[in-house]
Amino acid sequence: MSLAEHRDAGPDQRRVPETFESTAPATGAVVAVFQVHGPDEVRAAVDRARVAAASWADLGFDGRRTRLAAYRGYLARRVHELADLVHRENGKPHADAILEITLAVDHLAWAATHARTVLGPRRVSPGLLAANHAAWLEYQPLGVVGVIGPWNYPVFTPMGSITYALAAGNAVVFKPSEHTPAVGTWLADAWRAAVPEVPDAVQVVTGLGETGAALCRAGVGKLAFTGSAPTGRKVMAACAETLTPVLMELGGKDAMIVDDDADVAAAADAAVWGAMSNAGQTCIGIERVYATERVYDAFVAEVTERVRGLRPGTDEAAAYGPMTMAAQTDVVRRHVDDAVAAGGRVAAGGTVEGRFVAPTVLLDVPETSAAVREETFGPTLTISRVRDAEEALERANANAHGLAGAVFSRSKARAMDLARRMRSGMTSVNSVLTFASVPALPFGGVGESGFGRIHGADGLREFTRAKAITRRRFPLPVDLMSFTRPAAAADALARVMGLVHGRHR
Ligand code: NAD
Repeated sequence: MSLAEHRDAGPDQRRVPETFESTAPATGAVVAVFQVHGPDEVRAAVDRARVAAASWADLGFDGRRTRLAAYRGYLARRVHELADLVHRENGKPHADAILEITLAVDHLAWAATHARTVLGPRRVSPGLLAANHAAWLEYQPLGVVGVIGPWNYPVFTPMGSITYALAAGNAVVFKPSEHTPAVGTWLADAWRAAVPEVPDAVQVVTGLGETGAALCRAGVGKLAFTGSAPTGRKVMAACAETLTPVLMELGGKDAMIVDDDADVAAAADAAVWGAMSNAGQTCIGIERVYATERVYDAFVAEVTERVRGLRPGTDEAAAYGPMTMAAQTDVVRRHVDDAVAAGGRVAAGGTVEGRFVAPTVLLDVPETSAAVREETFGPTLTISRVRDAEEALERANANAHGLAGAVFSRSKARAMDLARRMRSGMTSVNSVLTFASVPALPFGGVGESGFGRIHGADGLREFTRAKAITRRRFPLPVDLMSFTRPAAAADALARVMGLVHGRHR
C-alpha cells in the first residue's frame, strides 16, 4: 500500500498495512518497500536494545568514544552513497545532502569527545552542613532512548538525538519518518557494520504513526520526538501513560530582523537561503522578515533580484527540489491564497506545479494571516515594513512558535541585545541557521516549538539522569541527623545560622 492510498482511505477501510512503499518525490518511483512494525516487534526491538545498552554502558566513555569514531569514519567514507539516497528519498539536491551529513558527523565527533567532561563523575562542594562528607555528581544513561524523526533532514535531525544519546551511554531504537525509512535503515545498517560488537545498540523500526505510538509505549527510558506540534501532543499523551519523559523538537515560524544599519545585501542573501533552501522544508528556516523603513525598499529589491535566479527542479542546476510530501503543496497554496485575499502582494513566485513550488516572496501580508502565523514549510517568505527594530522584535515575538531566528545589524551591542530578547531557543546574528553547525551550542525551542535540547552539553545531559552521591569521610562529634544528638545541638545550629545568614537584610 502506498502512503497516499493509506491517507486517502476512509476510516472504515483504513487498516494498518503490513508493508509500505517509500517513493522518490521527484519521480514517484519506489525507493524500497518496508515492513510496518507492530507493537510486538517494537517491544522486541526495545528489549534487545536494553540488553545492548548494558554492554554499551559498560564500555565506558573511552570505549564508546573509539566505537563512535568508527561509526563516524564509516559515515564519512560513504558520504556520497548516503547523500545519493537522501537525494532520491527526500528530493533535496545531492550537495545539500552532503552538507546535512557533514553537520551530523561533526556533531557525532563533538558528542563522543566531550561526553566524559560533561557527564563523568565530578566532586562538588559538600557545603557547610555536610562538611565531613565528599559529594559526587555524575550523569548516568537512561538505558534505551526511543527516537521518532521527521523526513526534512532525515540524517541531521534524528542523528542530533541518536548520537548524543549514544555518547551518553544509551542504546537507541529509531522510528524514521515513513517518508524517509530507507535513510533511517541505512543509518542503522551502517552502525551494525561499523560497530559489530554491539549491533543492537542502534536499531530501526519502520512504519507509520502507529509504529511511533507503539515506541512511546514500549518501555523506553526517554522518547525524543522531532516533528509537528499536533503529533508531538499525541506523543506526549502516549508517553504520559507510563510517565516516560519526552524531548519535543517541534516546528517553527522563524523571523529575521533587518535593522537600519544592516548590510542589506548580506541580509537578503541569507534570507533567500534561509527561506528557500531545502524547498523551505526547514524547521529553522526563515519564513518572516521584518525590515525597518530605512532598509525595506532596498531589502525587497535585493531579495526579489536573487529569487529571480532560483528555480526548483531535479537537475544539477536546480536551487532546490520538489516538496517531499505531496500534501505540503496544499499548505503552501492555502497560505499564499490567504495572504493575497487579505491584501498581500506577490513580489515573486506564488505558483505551484505538481510538487514544485516557485520561490515565493509576499509583501504587505497582515500579521493575522496564516502565512505569517502558521508554519508554511515551503519556499516562501513574507517581508513586512516596520518602524524600527523594536517593532520588528515585538512582531517577531508575537508568534506561538519560538524555535530560532536571525538579526542583521552592524552594531554588535544592538544585535546581541535583540538576539537575547528574541523569544526563541536560537538566534544567529548576521547569518542564518549558523547555531545548528556549532556542536557546543544547544538546539531546541520555546512555546509551540517544544522543549528540551539536543546538541552541546545540554544535549548530552538530556539523555541522562543526574545521580547524586555523598560519602562520609569522618564522623563529627555531634551528628545532627541522629536521635543521639544532644538537646542543645539545635540551639547551637540556630546560633551558627544567625552568624552566617542572619546579617543579610
Ligand atoms: P510529523 O509530526 O507528521 O511526523 C513526525 C514523526 O512522527 C514521523 O516519524 C511519524 O511517523 C511519527 N508519528 C505520527 N503520528 C504519530 C503518533 N501518533 N505517535 C508517535 N509517532 C507518530 O512531522 P513531519 O511532517 O515528519 O516533520 C515536519 C515537522 O517537523 C515540521 O513541523 C518541522 O518544523 C518539524 N521539525 C522540527 C525540528 C526541530 O528540531 N525542532 C527539526 C526538523 C523538523
